[in-house]
Order: sequence, then structure tokens, then C-alpha cells
Amino acid sequence: SKWVYGFGAGRNEGNASLRDLLGGKGANLAEMASIGLPVPPGFTITTEVCTAYYDNGQKYPAELQGEVAEALARIEAAVGNKFGDHHKPLLVSVRSGARVSMPGMMDTVLNLGLNDDTVEGLVAASGDARFAWDSYRRFIQMYGSVVLGVDHHRFEEIIEHAKMDAGVVEDTDLTAQDWHRVVAGYKDMVAEVTGAPFPQDPQAQLWGAIGAVFGSWMNQRAVTYRRIHDIPAAWGTAVNVQAMVFGNMGEDCATGVCFTRDPSTGEDIFYGEYLINAQGEDVVAGIRTPQPMSEARAKPGERSMEAAMPAAYAELVAVRATLEKHYHDMQDIEFTVQQNKLYMLQTRNGKRTAAASLKIAVDMAREGLIGEVEAIQRVNPAALDQLLHPTLDPKAKRTAVAKGLPASPGAACGVIVFSADEAEARAAKGESVILCRIETSPEDIHGMHAAKGILTTRGGMTSHAAVVARGMGRPCVAGAGSITVDYAAQALTAGGRILRAGETITLDGATGEVFAGTVPMIEPQLSGDFATLMEWADKVRRMKVRANAETPLDADTARKFGAEGIGLCRTEHMFFDPERIGAVRQMIMAETEHGRRTALARLLPFQRDDFVKLFRIMAGLPVTIRLLDPPLHEFLPHGEHEIAQVASSLGTDPEAMTRRAAELSEANPMLGHRGCRLGITYPEIYEMQARAIFEAAVMTAQETGAAPVPEIMIPLVATRRELEITRAIVDKIAQEVFAEMNYHLVYQVGTMIELPRAALTADHIAEAGDFFSFGTNDLTQTVFGLSRDDAGKFLQFYIEKGIFAKDPFVSIDVEGVGALVRIAAERGRSVKPDLKLGICGEHGGDPASIQFCESVGLDYVSCSPYRVPVARLAAAQAAL
Ligand code: PEP
Ligand code: MG
Repeated sequence: SKWVYGFGAGRNEGNASLRDLLGGKGANLAEMASIGLPVPPGFTITTEVCTAYYDNGQKYPAELQGEVAEALARIEAAVGNKFGDHHKPLLVSVRSGARVSMPGMMDTVLNLGLNDDTVEGLVAASGDARFAWDSYRRFIQMYGSVVLGVDHHRFEEIIEHAKMDAGVVEDTDLTAQDWHRVVAGYKDMVAEVTGAPFPQDPQAQLWGAIGAVFGSWMNQRAVTYRRIHDIPAAWGTAVNVQAMVFGNMGEDCATGVCFTRDPSTGEDIFYGEYLINAQGEDVVAGIRTPQPMSEARAKPGERSMEAAMPAAYAELVAVRATLEKHYHDMQDIEFTVQQNKLYMLQTRNGKRTAAASLKIAVDMAREGLIGEVEAIQRVNPAALDQLLHPTLDPKAKRTAVAKGLPASPGAACGVIVFSADEAEARAAKGESVILCRIETSPEDIHGMHAAKGILTTRGGMTSHAAVVARGMGRPCVAGAGSITVDYAAQALTAGGRILRAGETITLDGATGEVFAGTVPMIEPQLSGDFATLMEWADKVRRMKVRANAETPLDADTARKFGAEGIGLCRTEHMFFDPERIGAVRQMIMAETEHGRRTALARLLPFQRDDFVKLFRIMAGLPVTIRLLDPPLHEFLPHGEHEIAQVASSLGTDPEAMTRRAAELSEANPMLGHRGCRLGITYPEIYEMQARAIFEAAVMTAQETGAAPVPEIMIPLVATRRELEITRAIVDKIAQEVFAEMNYHLVYQVGTMIELPRAALTADHIAEAGDFFSFGTNDLTQTVFGLSRDDAGKFLQFYIEKGIFAKDPFVSIDVEGVGALVRIAAERGRSVKPDLKLGICGEHGGDPASIQFCESVGLDYVSCSPYRVPVARLAAAQAAL
């Protein structure tokens, strides 16, 4: 095995395709160097070293030491400096770099190689004692906190004292002598805290930093981050060691972080922040205010890089074009300018909001940088969700109490919480929370995940809160400096008001505004780039996308999102309406068929009305209506009042009713008297529903001239006989209604496949039905023997322990449930080659499950209205 790969100075052993081995940072440094961009020379220790290190009881491969020494010698030769040399010391940076960027791991140690001796060499080489001693103290500070684990406050205290002693306010006012004293103070403090002197040997420093990078792979924050983002521990991290360049050697030096396009909106503008005379971490640390890149984005009082350093800026603009042409994607870059010379320190595909991802994909396809198919693949279907979420109603009355940076778009409303733990706890109880922090750190990730929105009072567009919120799709207002947060008092002050924990606030992540109370929201706009991408997706998609909808509102939303029909109308949802529930209870509590029919006659007009509305909205599109499914148990009256009401509607006494309710009550209702078992024991229920459907269909046909195609679906079928019996009921009613209304229309009768027996005997069942729709909610429940209603209590534990990779109710279990779906599809089609197949369980809106549905050859997926665009895009990606 080769453990170390060099880059820069004309010798690039890696490239972008070796991301798994070299990590994202290392692979791209090699790639940038190989396309001629200015990259300081360095080397990457591979991710395989990390894996080997953990596999072998935290020991490095034997050859590593030699390979590192050789690679270091190559840097020395290229730069002309030597590691640990008194006169011309080589300084390096050490950075972690996994396959995907992972906040939570050790990030960076700069200026490594400095000690009491080499600092003198840096003084001589730079001719700037202040710069040299400042660099040394920065090194001790970074190394001390990230490698030796010294609390960073301990360093800050020493600087504060130094500033007080010197009578100055800003770090920049401290002199070389002051920094010299700070260094002495740091060394004493580190020795006291760690019990050992600060390492002076550059080799010991280097190996200490390398060890810290590998150690950080298993720290709690990294482990949490991997869990949330589904990153396997086996990937490991690489370590990048690179010759230092200095952005803090004077006014002709700078450092910056930027994006080749705006990561919030996707706009094609060079976007980011830089600081003159500063070193990497200063830009994100928030001590000095970073300045904008382009003059077009500079506000009064700001000095853009374009204006301040025109030559370096022009060079960077050229690099930007080269990178986008080369990578065919928006890049997130880090650079340093040392004495007017530009160096590239990092490039990677930039994280972006869903809105930006959409705009960039569509724009790049139009610019010819990528093709339409590539554009379709670029957008994460799950992220589309963010675009489909509400924004604040512009007409709503509101007064902002504060304004920060529009760090991550979307609007959010919830109760104020001040800690990540509190956010998680209250969200677990179903509350909407807004996490309010002075700033966030990787320790807060779980709370940010749980929150509906994030508010910080400090930090810029590249602050931790902003970057993480954008990645998670949480609305975020960052750096709202006029707000003061008081953790101890559990309150914040904004615009002269005190808002306490538990009070409601609203954030607008698109404008950066913060409002007290609740501001009404409106539905998103689905035109422009969104419509374009959907059009492209629709061209390549094979499966149809329908919606699960029963109300006119849901059906309208579904249509607006592009649903091609209804795949599941759960008629029982129409039964719970307060106007109807009385009649429903009267029906199930009746002891005779006559009693039931009387109650059903009351329900008929309601149902018919519902169906007319759905047919009108879905004009010309298929509408699958499922006959009554849930256990009667769910409709039982509770308490004296409800029982008395039903008793009086049936003309019996409450005692009799109480007895009847006890009779109907079930121990295990989900496996009890439900689904087609109801239709078979009480055929009058399905008769009424079939009548309502057919009358509504004929009425709609007569009214609009376009006949709907009802697809009537029988739930919870286990045997062919059940489908035959219920189908006969439907067919009989159809003939009756057609004769009465003198109108014939085409309809279909099919079944849900949601029991293992139905899947296994699908060839028999298919003979009796026109279509199958996989009810993978119940199928998952019955295949796993896992109660849909009770599994929540322990599923999370299973997922945390890795027993289940994902919640099987969210993403289909391909191995088990999927195998039954595949068997049912094959057996069904073996007797009816054109049998229509769809899915209507929750999985119909999950991109991974949709991929599976494509592989089985289903004709359509059906999902909740808001997920329809997600499904359209996922179905397109699955077809590619
Ligand atoms: C299913 O079981 O997957 C299904 C769609 O039906 P329900 O969720 O109504 O049981
Ligand atoms: Mg079901």
C-alpha cells in the first residue's frame, strides 16, 4: 500500500477521482495543482491510514513514518525551507479531510513548525517580528486547543490581560513584545494544564497533529454528525500537510472563503468574504468583520476585494471560471494572498440551499456547462421539500423586532429555546421550536436538527449556524447583532422588547428579519426554474406520480404540484367530520342491518358530494377510492355523552349501547375487524360507498361531459375469495346506478396488497382484480410484525444501534418487504401482463423507495401532495 500522496510543485500523485482515498480536500488540492492552479506544495496521508489505525489498536502502518519523511523532504525542496531550521524554517498547515466535509472533526492547525528557535528564523525571513510572534502565539493557541485539548478561554484570558496591560482594545494594537509575552504566558499555561511543556520539536508537533486528526474521527461530535448524515465510520479521514502561505504578512496579504455563485439564491455572482492581513480562521471567527468579494455586493463603508486588491481579484475571477469549467459545478473555495500572490487552499462542490441548487442546475444546463439529464441528477429530491415550504405572507401585518443576515431561506415559527438539548426535548414532544443562540458550534447540531429555525446574534454568512442550517434546510437568521441573548435569564432582548423562553417568534430566513409572535405564511411559488426542472424530469420519468388525497384542498394542492391523479382516497377520513361522525357511530352501533342502512342513507349524500368534488378537480385523471378500511373500534363512542347521543339516534337505552360498545371493542384492532372484512360482514357499507362513487361519477360526467375513471380499491385483502365477494358488491351497485341514471361508464376494481398472504398469492388475486396498489405501511407492519402505532417507542433505539439502517416505515425495507412486493408484482403480472401496479404507502414519497419501485416496474407511485414534486424528480432520477 501507498500511504502518502504528494501534490503541488509539479508532482501530483492524486486527483479528484481519488476522493475516497485522499478525502475531498486532498483529492481536490491535487486536482487543482494538476490543472495549473497555484497550490502550495504538500501531501495527503490517506483515509486508509485512518482505517488501519483503528483496525490495529491505534497504531500506524510501519511504512508511514518513512513515507511522511520523504514527502516532507519534497516540500522542503520545493519551497527552499527546512522543517525546524533556525534560519529558514518550513511551516506547514495540518488539516483533516474526509470524503465529505464534516464539521465536528478537528479542522486545522496552522503555522506548525514554530518553536522558540524557529520563530527567530521567521522574524529574520519576514523582517517582521510582530508577524512572527503573532504567528507563534496563533500556533500555540490552535495546537493547544485542538491537539492538546486546552479550553480556548484560557488563551483568550491571557490575550485580554495582555491588552489590559498594554492599554489597548484591539488585538492588532499589540506589539511584537506584547505577543512575545503572550507566547510565554501561553506556554506556562499549557504546561500547567497538560502537565507537560509545549512541544518544541517540530516532528513531535507534526505527529501530534496527525494523531489529533485521526483521533477526532471518533470524537462525539463527529460520531453524531455521521449518524445524522448517514456517513459510515469505515470511511475514515485523510490528513493534509501543506506548506504555509501567509495572508497576515501585511496590507498586500489577505485570506478569504467564497463561492463561485451565491449559495443562498444560486445567483451567478462571485460571493464570499475576505479579510486583508489575516489568517484563515479570522474570516470565520467573527472577531473582525469580513468584507465582500465583489464591488457589486459592497455596502457603504465596506471595502470589496475587487476594489482593494484588483490584481489578485482578477486572478481569482479567472480561477473561478477555470474551476467551474473543470468541475461543472459551483465551487466553495479558500484562498490566501501573500504579498499580492494568489494561492488556492481548497475547492469543493459548494453546499447550497435547495433554491440555489435548483437555480444553479438549471442555469448551468442553459449555459451548456452540464446537460439537462445532469441537471436533473444534481438536485436532491428530498431537498426540494424546502422549496415547497411556506414563506411569510407579504400582506400580513408585522413589525420586525430585529434584523440579521438572511442565512438560510424559508420562514419558521416556534417557541424560543436557548439550548440544543431543550430544542431536542421540546421538539420530541411535538412542539415547533426556534433555537436562539449567541452562536452555534458543532455541539449544537442535534438541537439545530430538531428546531424549525435557528437564530444567532453573532457570526456571518459562513458562520457555523449559517452553513449547517443551509445544509439541513432549516431557515436561519444569523448575526442579528441588535438582539442580546441572556442564557442565564432565559430571555432575549430585541427591539426594546424582552422575549422569554417559551414565547413564540417568527423568522424569515430569506430577509433576515425576526418577528415577535406568529406571522401568517403562504404557499410557495412553483414557477420559473422549478417548473423548468420539473418539465425536464417529466420528460425522462417512466412512472406516473399520483397523490394520496381525500379533501378538495389536498386534491387542489396535489394538482398544483403536478399529481397525475389520486392513488389513494381514504374514505374513512371523510367519516370523522363532526357533521358525519354521529351517523357513522349510529351505523356501527346498530344491531340490525336495517339500523345500519338507515344510518348509511344519512351518509350517502355526504360521500357523494365528496366524490363529485374530487372528480371535478381530477378531471380526466384516474381517482383511486378505497372503501372503508379502519377497524370499527376506531369509531366507537367514548364517554357517557357520546354513548347517550348514539343511543337516542338509534332509539335504544345507554346501557344497551355500552354493552354493544364493549362487544365491538377489540384487543388488537389493526388485525381485527377492518378492511374488506367489514365489507364482507356488513355488505351494506360497501354498497353505500359504491353507490356514492358511481352516482358522483355519473353526475360529474353529465355535468362536465368528461367521464371520470373511478378505480375502486378493496383494502386488506388476504385471499382471492375476499376480492371476489367485495367486487361482486361493487359490480352489482354499478349496474343498478347505471340503469337508474341511464349512463354507463368505465371503472376498475382492484385491491391493495398489504398482507404477506396477498403478496404470495398475487397470481390468484390478480385474476379477480384490475389493479394492485401496494399498501406498504401495513405490509411493513405485517412483514416485520411491528406495530405501526407502537413501534415509535423503540425504533429509534434500533436505528441508533444500527439494527435497522433506516426506519422501515419511512424507507422501504428492500430485502424483506421489497422482496414481497417484487414477488407480488411478478406473480400478478404472470397471469395478467397488463395488471396496473402502484404504491400508496408512505414510501411512495421517499426517494430511495421510489428508486426501488422503478426497479420493480411499478406503473405509478402515490404520495402526500407536498411530496409530489419530490416524487416526480426522484422517479426521473430512478429512470436514468
Ligand atoms: C398502507 O397500508 O400502506 C396504506 C396505504 O393504507 P393505510 O396507511 O391507510 O393503512
Ligand atoms: Mg393499509
